[in-house]
Amino acid sequence: MNVTKRSYDAVIVGAGGAGLRAALQLAEAGLNIAVLSKVFPTRSHTVAAQGGVAASLGNSDEDHWHWHMYDTVKGSDWLGDQDSIEYMCRMAPEVVYELEHFGMPFTRTEDGRIYQRPFGGHMSNFGEKPVRRACAAADRTGHAMLHTLYQRNVRANTRFFVEWMALDLVRGPEGEVLGVTAIEMETGEVSVFQAKATLFATGGSGRMYYASTNAFINTGDGLGMAARAGLPIQDMEFFQFHPTGVYGAGILITEGVRGEGGILRNKDGERFMERYAPNAKDLASRDVVSRAMATEIKEGRGCGPEKDHLLLDLSHLDPDVIIRRLPGIREISIRFAGADPVREPIPVVPTAHYQMGGIPTLYSGRVVAPKNGDPDAVVPGFYAAGECACASVHGGNRLGCNSLLDLLVFGRSAGDSMIEDIGKMPGALPDLPRDAAEGSLARLDRLESQKDGESVHEVQAAMRRTMQEHCGVFRFPEMLAKGVAEIEAVAERVSRTGIGDHSRVFNTARIEALEVENLIEAAKATMMGAANREESRGAQARADFPERDDTNWLKHSLWYREGNRIDYRPVHLKPLTVETVALKKRVY
Ligand SMILES: Cc1cc2nc3c(=O)[nH]c(=O)nc-3n(C[C@H](O)[C@H](O)[C@H](O)COP(=O)(O)OP(=O)(O)OC[C@H]3O[C@@H](n4cnc5c(N)ncnc54)[C@H](O)[C@@H]3O)c2cc1C
Repeated sequence: MNVTKRSYDAVIVGAGGAGLRAALQLAEAGLNIAVLSKVFPTRSHTVAAQGGVAASLGNSDEDHWHWHMYDTVKGSDWLGDQDSIEYMCRMAPEVVYELEHFGMPFTRTEDGRIYQRPFGGHMSNFGEKPVRRACAAADRTGHAMLHTLYQRNVRANTRFFVEWMALDLVRGPEGEVLGVTAIEMETGEVSVFQAKATLFATGGSGRMYYASTNAFINTGDGLGMAARAGLPIQDMEFFQFHPTGVYGAGILITEGVRGEGGILRNKDGERFMERYAPNAKDLASRDVVSRAMATEIKEGRGCGPEKDHLLLDLSHLDPDVIIRRLPGIREISIRFAGADPVREPIPVVPTAHYQMGGIPTLYSGRVVAPKNGDPDAVVPGFYAAGECACASVHGGNRLGCNSLLDLLVFGRSAGDSMIEDIGKMPGALPDLPRDAAEGSLARLDRLESQKDGESVHEVQAAMRRTMQEHCGVFRFPEMLAKGVAEIEAVAERVSRTGIGDHSRVFNTARIEALEVENLIEAAKATMMGAANREESRGAQARADFPERDDTNWLKHSLWYREGNRIDYRPVHLKPLTVETVALKKRVY
């Protein structure tokens, strides 16, 4: 097969919030860039974000970035890197105002300022009481944000390659990253995108679970590509289950519903969160609420004939609040649960939502991989931002609205780092290795020639069931041990998938097969990490190790594909300018 070579200053894989924010930085600096996306940019999963973006603007209540930082460290169960967290929280007002000036249509307060609502774990004065910090455009914040960023990129003449799927990283002799290989879906042709700087902004891997709030395209491609290129993936055992996915459908009901006053109830009509989090109640952080819900169900207080879900009650709210501030939620509830929240409660259940882990980076967006005893050794030419990256601001558990913020802050800082590093590389691009596309072509060839191949859909279903059953809200030792064996068996089947359709043009069967090859790497990292980490912290809740263990486990785990091996990296406990948020027990 002919492989076309294309050369740029920078290549960005992913056109969600993180990719678009970085692209804008580079395009406005006049660099020659290519942005690749599997889907049209505004169809990236960022478009589905509902609740808001966190920033201590203090428009409705007194607020401070330091309080936001404290909440984020506490939310992370102290696994977050405090330098990255300080950087993000300090930068938050600036990037949100910047977005406002880009034209983002935020909902407004009476006096015309950006509307802010309460959200889980957002507190004033170092954990005292809920504060209004989530900046929102009704319940379609991600939609407003993604379109704003896209339009701004059109203005800056950003070059998009739409319906192109990146296949593999290209690395040089010293391990430096030199670009990616990619397939154009329309033609089936393969290209090498050569660049001085390569950014991954490929989003999450939520489709590894059976019940997921994530879009079909969230298949952890960045993680798969990094893992195959020999790079580690960090902290994948921390997978967030959002408390309120629509029962049976998985579609998300934003935490903003509870921010606006919605209440979770069990079959007796009891507001059970009062027992689990007396102070924050329904606005405790997500891991805490999801565990409370799983416990209510386990102890027989779930709702419905199977007692397998709970109810989110809004019926006490002013209908006008629901109609104006939560119009999308009302529509989802009527359509997917057959319940109009103005009158009836919404049936909900914890649903896989967000990967806290990812490709390890510094707050500059530069990717790191331990080398010669340096845990923070930078991989030259490689950057990551957004959900596929692990900066690590979310640690063991992400607070709501901190992801959209993460996209803006680290999209921009990664863009700035790329501009800086490219500036130090005058002249021609470094030579590509002769075999730059060989690995990708071999994978494509294998798919073409596989005899009696496994069905992609069956293998994917097996993976999703295994993850759901063995690596859910609570994690049990026997289930994890079985889960590791099962996921390895699934991985073996993934290496033997076959496709019936061999056409070149818009062959979606081929794309899905390639996606499963990525998703399985993310699933292995998650399962292995969960089985390995013998403590409970954030979203990792081990039945056999119910306590957080800072003596042995206050460290990031790194999963390597080669040898299915786990190593560690220290947590950055020192912030940039303020004192460390000291370790303490996490209660809400
Ligand atoms: C339903 C839902 C609601 C949410 N609500 C909120 C909220 O209110 N507030 C909040 O802070 N967070 C929220 N989140 C989380 C947040 O929206 C996501 O974490 C975030 O949008 C991810 O952005 P991203 O830019 O990293 O990736 P995405 O927006 O997922 O974009 C990934 C991009 O990568 C591209 N891509 C992937 N693989 C390849 C490949 N191999 N080749 C080429 N392109 C590729 C895709 O085409 C896409 O353009 C929500 C998430 C969900 C699922």
